[in-house]
Amino acid sequence: MPDLPKKQCTGCSACFGICPNGSIGMIADGEGFLYPAVDRAKCVGCRLCEDVCPVLRKPAAKDCQGTRVFAAWSLDGEVRRRSTSGGIFTELAKAVIGRGGYVAGARYDDAHLVGHRVIASEWDIPLLRQSKYVQSDMGAVFREVKELLEKGRPFLFAGCPCQVAGLLGFLGRDYDNLLLCDFICRGVNSPKAYKKYLESLEKQYRSKIRRVWFKNKTLGWNRFGTRIEFEDGTEYFADRDTDPFMRGYLNYNLYLRPSCSDCSFKGFPRHSDITLADFWGIRLRDGSVDEDGGTSLVMLHTQKGRELFESIRERIFQEEHTLGEALPFNQCAERSVLPGKYRDLFFREIDRSDFFELLHQIMEKSDGK
Ligand SMILES: Cc1cc2nc3c(=O)[nH]c(=O)nc-3n(C[C@H](O)[C@H](O)[C@H](O)COP(=O)(O)OP(=O)(O)OC[C@H]3O[C@@H](n4cnc5c(N)ncnc54)[C@H](O)[C@@H]3O)c2cc1C
Repeated sequence: MPDLPKKQCTGCSACFGICPNGSIGMIADGEGFLYPAVDRAKCVGCRLCEDVCPVLRKPAAKDCQGTRVFAAWSLDGEVRRRSTSGGIFTELAKAVIGRGGYVAGARYDDAHLVGHRVIASEWDIPLLRQSKYVQSDMGAVFREVKELLEKGRPFLFAGCPCQVAGLLGFLGRDYDNLLLCDFICRGVNSPKAYKKYLESLEKQYRSKIRRVWFKNKTLGWNRFGTRIEFEDGTEYFADRDTDPFMRGYLNYNLYLRPSCSDCSFKGFPRHSDITLADFWGIRLRDGSVDEDGGTSLVMLHTQKGRELFESIRERIFQEEHTLGEALPFNQCAERSVLPGKYRDLFFREIDRSDFFELLHQIMEKSDGK
């Protein structure tokens, strides 16, 4: 197991993937985050797990001197509406699958928990679409990516910056047919906190959840709407000021993974070919602003990234901008978010509390009521 302080481990699972005799398992801790655990009886001390750990041995980053920056969105209104930002991920995924390739990204399972999966059909792109504000379980996806890469077809891997670096560490080299896409990341939330939130909602609504949709644009891109649909046909909708889960994430920093508070993969240079994000604060060349439809910030770091973006030109609106226009509005590009004052209290109480009641108590304490 990598000799890494727990608070620096991102849970990328590269060590789990590389272990030649299955002596590493990924086990959830009391906060619900996955960490490697080694079976000493099986471990042969080969130290491959340390070689692939992207925190211990940072893989070579891309040369980002020539990074080009665009404001962009999909011209397909449904794709844009259903995506978190401007729907550029969907257009990139379509292009790769259209060339006979594969795409890996985060999807919900039947219990609405999040894990990485590989797809090869355009029909499956909606499964990967949209931000899921909880840490994605990587499972054995790195091994699958490697096997498929060796077939020589194009492969688009999308994930958090630490997952992209983890994949590069696991592979030990870049591949010509591999396109790496990360995003500006505020940090990933605890799967346990998220599960507790869903359980509280199911209790309140007395129905099982059918679908989770974060950053739903019913009230606009800026409002971070959360829409949850239940099997009995009812719906929950709340925005960034009223949904307790989003408030705990965005306002009170209650349940981010510890490594996200000192993230090793912020800023530049980056490990990806393309970085996607929200282009907050965008003012277009004609002086207009995004009327809340969602604008992607696209940063193209490499020739591979530029070629893929060029190939979707007909399907998108695009306008070139500068890093100087983009970064001031997106502090998470370069800075980690610190843990909130009541993070410890949250995790001390979560096992014996209802999510909504606990959040209510913490919000009252924080707001000095
Ligand atoms: C946890 C998280 C934090 C983020 N923080 C910021 C931020 O601070 N600032 C900012 O500008 N943008 C942030 N983003 C990115 C932003 O929300 C959009 O995902 C991005 O702009 C792409 O949008 P899109 O419309 O092109 O495609 P979408 O269809 O919305 O993008 C979906 C892509 O994100 C991947 N994805 C979704 N959830 C996860 C997950 N939990 N783990 C790994 N990959 C995932 C999917 O695999 C897919 O590739 C964050 C995203 C996530 C998941």
